Amino acid sequence: MPKIAIDQERCKGCERCNDACPQEILGMSQQLNTKGYAYARVVDPARCIGCRLCAIACPDVAIEVYVEGTQYELFTY
Ligand code: SF4
Ligand code: SF4
Repeated sequence: MPKIAIDQERCKGCERCNDACPQEILGMSQQLNTKGYAYARVVDPARCIGCRLCAIACPDVAIEVYVEGTQYELFTY
């Protein structure tokens, strides 16, 4: 299963990753980071397909996607 790592302190709560995710499995935390922003979180990690669109969409490079196996080879980058 792909693993999504979101750096909460880099996040500025813009929600672009939420909009980019084709699986609609990202959401925003009810808690704030030290900068005062509600940060992104993965709501349903089991449904992640490892497409990395969230990481590409993030203007603050706050998301890393780790994919094992061949899943991400379905996509061309
Ligand atoms: S890798 Fe793709 S499916 Fe997984 S959280 Fe990011 S945008 Fe959504
Ligand atoms: S796109 Fe990046 S900065 Fe914006 S909410 Fe998502 S993780 Fe945070």
